[in-house]
Amino acid sequence: MTKYLGSLDFEKQRAKLISEQLRKFTDSYAYMVAGQFANIDFWINEAITSLKALDEHNIRFEKMYNAQKNWIEEKKVKVPDYCYICNGICELSHDGYITPDLPKQKIDKTEIRKKLINSVYYFLIRCYKVGLLDQEEMKSFCNQIGTDIDPYDLKK
Ligand SMILES: [Zn+2]
Repeated sequence: MTKYLGSLDFEKQRAKLISEQLRKFTDSYAYMVAGQFANIDFWINEAITSLKALDEHNIRFEKMYNAQKNWIEEKKVKVPDYCYICNGICELSHDGYITPDLPKQKIDKTEIRKKLINSVYYFLIRCYKVGLLDQEEMKSFCNQIGTDIDPYDLKK
């Protein structure tokens, strides 16, 4: 049985999908970039929601962990002491049943976060370069996703 499927898998997948989509837009012809730019507010919002979900992961994890822990304790839950060597309930187990393991935090979301911000950023830079937005608008979008403009990127 699956021990624990972290919701971070969901959050990571979402961030990855948005990043990939924006990267595709960035590498498109200018007329396609112009088409996608028409929905820039949607994409900025998607990115912000995704970043927020990543940032609040720990809070949700803690809630989930505590709820699971309390349930196990209150109902004195036991699960079969499965063992890969015995290929079933462990022969060395003293009564064959154990208290289930609690989920573990096992994530690093720094990379995925950075990647998402960069994807939005480089899409905006491309929009800027083809003349879809000016520096002020660029700055405002960058503020929304929590990044700065590197003046070097604005050179046309
Ligand atoms: Zn065993």
